[in-house]
Amino acid sequence: MAVQTVAGTADTTAAATPNVDLGPAAALSCRECGERFELGPLFACASCFGPLEVAYELPTGAPEELRKRIEAGPDNIWRYAPLLPVPADVAEKPNLNPGFTKLVKADNLARELGVTGGLYVKDDSGNPTHSFKDRVVAIAVEAARAFGFTTLSCSSTGNLAGAVGAAAARAGLRSCVFIPHDLEQGKVVMAAVYGGELVGIEGNYDDVNRFCSELIGDPLGEGWGFVNVNLRPYYGEGSKTLAYEICEQLGWRLPDQIVIPIASGSQLTKIDKGFQELIKLGLVEDRPYKIFGAQAEGCSPVSAAFKAGHDVVRPQKPNTIAKSLAIGNPADGPYVLDIARRTGGAVEDVTDEQVVDAIKLLARAEGIFGETAGGVTVGVTKKLVEAGVIDPTLTTVVLNTGDGLKTLDAVSATSQATATIKPSLDAFRAAGLASA
Ligand SMILES: *Cc1c(COP(=O)(O)O)cnc(C)c1O
Repeated sequence: MAVQTVAGTADTTAAATPNVDLGPAAALSCRECGERFELGPLFACASCFGPLEVAYELPTGAPEELRKRIEAGPDNIWRYAPLLPVPADVAEKPNLNPGFTKLVKADNLARELGVTGGLYVKDDSGNPTHSFKDRVVAIAVEAARAFGFTTLSCSSTGNLAGAVGAAAARAGLRSCVFIPHDLEQGKVVMAAVYGGELVGIEGNYDDVNRFCSELIGDPLGEGWGFVNVNLRPYYGEGSKTLAYEICEQLGWRLPDQIVIPIASGSQLTKIDKGFQELIKLGLVEDRPYKIFGAQAEGCSPVSAAFKAGHDVVRPQKPNTIAKSLAIGNPADGPYVLDIARRTGGAVEDVTDEQVVDAIKLLARAEGIFGETAGGVTVGVTKKLVEAGVIDPTLTTVVLNTGDGLKTLDAVSATSQATATIKPSLDAFRAAGLASA
């Protein structure tokens, strides 16, 4: 089969590790210097310490054939297996089969925001553990299997811990995950209920992440696959499926504008990678698109750097209700800045109060109860439409990456019973809610 290199440099000479079958994944390549490495549990370039990403030998040939093959595939991310670092028989293995979540045409929200060009909410609360993290974990599980890891682990702002716990349970692997000790109850329970080990660390996410990096280099963590550390290049590829699905659901068309939440920034950079791959493969028409990043003001290091015109991101100490996005030192921050600037997009932030208002706006307008990260993207969309930065006449997609049931505290104070009454018609009449 003819091949084409998509990520990294034009160098196609590095051979794939012979006994590791991760489908079209050919090698790891350094995002900074382009050096290539055999597929393995590596995450940093041995020469320049740059982040590694998966380079592919993707199918060439008629786009129409590939499109048909994808459309005939299962209703989950495995329909895109030819474009992912997974073995061809991935769909037959025990896993949670995330993805192919709804792309909701949000006409009510569009009216509220004054958007006329078509507004869509990609609702990833519909995944097995109710966040987008099931996508990235599903890919990391395949890498863990390929490299012979028997324990799955991660540093998490909450959703990832639940996704890893559930995926490990289904795959028959042990799991031991690490979270900041003060997360929302819904996230803690979701992470614990699948029966793996859950460890609360007295510190914020950046402390948890630093701890995990130490554990990887220590015999205590031997044989452990940390999905977002030593399996990070594979994990990240799961986010490309959001780009694939959105384009397929729009009728194999790129959106004009997309609003994506930023924690580490991985998801945003990989959605851009996914769009670029679809263009290169001829599956969508090559037209300009703008990528907008969304943060909460209380953890807005990327937004601050974007507004200041900086190329580097100055770490912050997070203080926001949007805990799933509370990464003060985002690994992919500089790449997010590049992408926002290259595509003509922007990075913006909203206050916690605006997050709460936006969660309720989305719920009231579309019947979608998003988590705080969804409040961040909807809030930023509103702000950027009002500022004239997002063009209301163009097709716009907003991501809701998690389920509001996991972050009830954000809205519980202002979402209560309208009235509490005795079970009598008189009492109901007195409450002033009756139609007559
Ligand atoms: C993890 C997460 C994100 C994005 O994370 P990145 O680290 O930027 O890839 C977005 N929304 C939710 C709900 C998450 O849990």
